[in-house]
Amino acid sequence: MTPLPPGSTIGILGGGQLGRMIATAAAQLGYRTHVLAPDRESVAAQTASALTRADYHNRIVLADFAAQCDVVTYEFENISAVPVEWLADRVPVHPSPASLRVAQDRIAEKEFVSNVGGTPARWAAVDSRVSLDAAIAEIGTPAVLKTTRMGYDGKGQVRLQSPADADGAWESIAGPAVLEAFVDFSHEFSIVLVRDCDGRMVSYPPPWNEHEDSILARSTVPAPAQIASLWTEAAALTGRIADALGHVGVLTCEYFATPDGPVFNEMAPRVHNSGHWTIEGAVTSQFENHVRAICGLPLGDTALVGAGVTMENLIGHDVDRWADLLAESGAHLHLYGKREVRPGRKMGHVTRVQRS
Ligand code: AMP
Repeated sequence: MTPLPPGSTIGILGGGQLGRMIATAAAQLGYRTHVLAPDRESVAAQTASALTRADYHNRIVLADFAAQCDVVTYEFENISAVPVEWLADRVPVHPSPASLRVAQDRIAEKEFVSNVGGTPARWAAVDSRVSLDAAIAEIGTPAVLKTTRMGYDGKGQVRLQSPADADGAWESIAGPAVLEAFVDFSHEFSIVLVRDCDGRMVSYPPPWNEHEDSILARSTVPAPAQIASLWTEAAALTGRIADALGHVGVLTCEYFATPDGPVFNEMAPRVHNSGHWTIEGAVTSQFENHVRAICGLPLGDTALVGAGVTMENLIGHDVDRWADLLAESGAHLHLYGKREVRPGRKMGHVTRVQRS
């Protein structure tokens, strides 16, 4: 692909913090960014060159957006694939709508990953209270019932300790879902991989991801031995997934570390919270590498700088510590510019790089 020259415009669908950090990286490389998002508050627009606040399904708006952008990307996977496909007929869209469609549907995702040799947790599709009983008989308990679509940060999922929890679980999900066997893992980790238009790939050292209340709390690199020993296998699998999708840009796959190998949890066709450490902790950040990939530029070095890095999320009122964090030598504070603090809301993060 001929590289997009500096001064070109990258369209970003979605107005959250991931779009905000993509826009910042794009600006550093001399690109303009244009955010399209319906939200009243779009924190991506605070760092982008332009904002269109509109519904994703408005064809007049989409046509105008396509005409103004040289390439389009998206910063969240819960966007409807319909406008993304419509745009892809008019302007290059990376990652392609195919990546989006697979990542939006837990069943499609698990089947796709199994077909390229990956191992998800044992699962069964559930679409009624009766089929939940059948799934419990097949999978057993403990288990996790997850909505097929639109889940994130532990939303749209409920744990079943025993079959007696079935009524309550179905009441709270009550729609197309999958029942997953509960995985007895030692650690969670992710592979953040970047693939360019010519199929070249690089990936970052895997972070150990610690969750609290199903929300990422901390990522640590280098990861402990239980993860390091699975790195090659998980990175190779993520590469096969990216190749099979013809993915361009960042692809993140989350895994559980078990003695039997990496168990695939889920994928995100985008930059990821568990890759935020790369802004100060890697030679090239995930955001810059995403921009490089979708603009046809050479991919940058993904090596860790220094001896180690931790990234801590600032969730809800954690953000009130901002002044103390600024006073801490070597702490890199990132605030996302969100006006309203809400419990469970990602308000910012702080990265600490341990110099060698
Ligand atoms: P998810 O939204 O699917 O990433 O799930 C959020 C968190 O719930 C994960 O990061 C895990 O900590 C936990 N979790 C999800 N699925 C399972 C599973 N099958 N077994 C054990 N823990 C799980």
